[in-house]
Amino acid sequence: MSHAKYQVTIVKYGTRQTVRSDVYLNYHLYGEPDGPIGMDYFFWIVRNAERTIIVDTGFSAAGGARRGRTTLIEPAAAFDALGVDRAAGPPVVVTHAHYDHIGNLDLFPASPVILAAAEYDFWTGPYANRMLLHHSVEDEELAYLRQAEREGRVRTFAGSLDLAPGVRVLQVGGHTPGQSVVLVDTDAGTVLLASDSVHYYEELERSMPFTQVASLVDMYAAFERIRAMREVRHLVPGHDPDTLGRFAPAGLNGLAATIG
Ligand SMILES: [Zn+2]
Repeated sequence: MSHAKYQVTIVKYGTRQTVRSDVYLNYHLYGEPDGPIGMDYFFWIVRNAERTIIVDTGFSAAGGARRGRTTLIEPAAAFDALGVDRAAGPPVVVTHAHYDHIGNLDLFPASPVILAAAEYDFWTGPYANRMLLHHSVEDEELAYLRQAEREGRVRTFAGSLDLAPGVRVLQVGGHTPGQSVVLVDTDAGTVLLASDSVHYYEELERSMPFTQVASLVDMYAAFERIRAMREVRHLVPGHDPDTLGRFAPAGLNGLAATIG
């Protein structure tokens, strides 16, 4: 199918400093010294002349403040500065429902919300309130997701979804039950928005699972699936401070980069 190539915009809206043992599961098993590591927070915009697709919406002011995160630019201001017409209701892909990915869904009150059925079902199901899982979500934000569902705006899928020509959403699980990635056709080749299936480049390169995990086996399997995607030219991880420097600067005082 022919279609106009897309451009991917990566927006770094938040940051924090932590240590390696806080991000890598059972880090002591590697027998390496602990040390500082940064964690950046991103959302992504996919667009061509015909359409705009939003991938995740960042943490809310409340969700970020509760965890001591630093906001570098308010997501609403970033969307507006980048010319995203929020009122037009562009589709919003939710890669997973953690607080730092669905925190500003209310900026898109007219948008269809696309996520894996397994993700929606999990966070509206009996284990969502267990402490080690629940600490990564905000109840008000899950309530907003349920409200969007009642409004008929939530579109779920199982396995994969061809959202638009050249844009495919793929459920990989692991980090959360319905953790998804997005494959985008750009004129710089296929881009994989890995979101939190791969927080850090090192995480994939060394198969080092992240601390927050729903299924450890699925997380390892997701690494294998991603490694097998020979068509991917550019991998964009969910939280790596090294990400922006690998791509073309795109304004926002150094907080944005583009591919394609
Ligand atoms: Zn995240």
